[in-house]
Amino acid sequence: MSKPLFSFEFYPPQTPEGAEKLVAVRKQLAELQPEFFSVTFGAGGSTQERTMDTIRQIKAEGYNATPHLSCVGSTRDNIRNMLLAYKEMGIKRIVALRGDLPSGMASIGEFQYANELVSFIRAQTGMQFHIEVAAYPEFHPQANSARDDLLNFKRKVSAGADSAITQYFYNADSYFYFVDKCRKLGITIPIVPGIMPIVKFAQLARFSDTCGAEIPRWIRRTLEGFGDDSESIQEFGQDVVTALCERLLAGGAPGLHFYTLNQAAPSLAICRRLGI
Ligand code: FAD
Repeated sequence: MSKPLFSFEFYPPQTPEGAEKLVAVRKQLAELQPEFFSVTFGAGGSTQERTMDTIRQIKAEGYNATPHLSCVGSTRDNIRNMLLAYKEMGIKRIVALRGDLPSGMASIGEFQYANELVSFIRAQTGMQFHIEVAAYPEFHPQANSARDDLLNFKRKVSAGADSAITQYFYNADSYFYFVDKCRKLGITIPIVPGIMPIVKFAQLARFSDTCGAEIPRWIRRTLEGFGDDSESIQEFGQDVVTALCERLLAGGAPGLHFYTLNQAAPSLAICRRLGI
């Protein structure tokens, strides 16, 4: 088996202090020699400038910088301009997403689904970019059915995606089942599990309800039981997530992509325990 690949995701900081803190976070995580650092893109283009600035900065620091690009609420012209800018910066990898239309934004724009964005990127820029797409082992909350969601995932792969990163999950079986189903459908691209360290319970519960990621009952009840005891939450969270990562890697996952929430310590602690 080839060496597992690790990557870390950030959101674009909103303040100069946040940007400064993120430089320090990157420095710490860079010690693990990750494959890339990615930067999210706010729904409807709300962070376009900040995402680009952060990507420029990561590139200037000498790391592989990977922008996320979501198409909902956007136009072909706007996406084309961003692709050109990234090409000029020498960016090699993009995470291509539909995104979610922010409340109050009326028009979905010129792209409806992520597969259309993947096709557009390929048509405009050929093989310039390695294209990552999102995958959902516990299925996307808006999918009509599990089967439809899989077929829609396949559409993105047929449109030209090179690999996928999953939504986070805490049930390794959902990942293995999903990968198995994909292989049976002839989808051969690497599918890297997205890993969300457990740091704050209320925030995690809120996120999970929105994105359809399940927190298994035993984990939820244990975390609830800790109340405000953040030390116990983090200790238990590290045990649970490290065990999950170990199982995923032992079962053949090609790497791990960490949702860092712009913090180094939680991902670092898990990676150290994994011996990375
Ligand atoms: P799609 O693949 O288009 O799927 C969306 C829904 O539509 C699914 O239910 C799917 O089954 C259905 N569907 C897809 N194609 C079709 C079709 N042709 N016909 C009918 N139904 C279809 N969000 C952000 O705003 N910014 C980010 O930076 C960001 N980064 C992310 C990174 C990762 C790794 C992941 C897993 C998610 C990320 N998200 C981000 C969240 C993501 O934008 C949302 O989950 C969004 O709701 C779906 O995006 P998608 O690209 O998966 O959409």
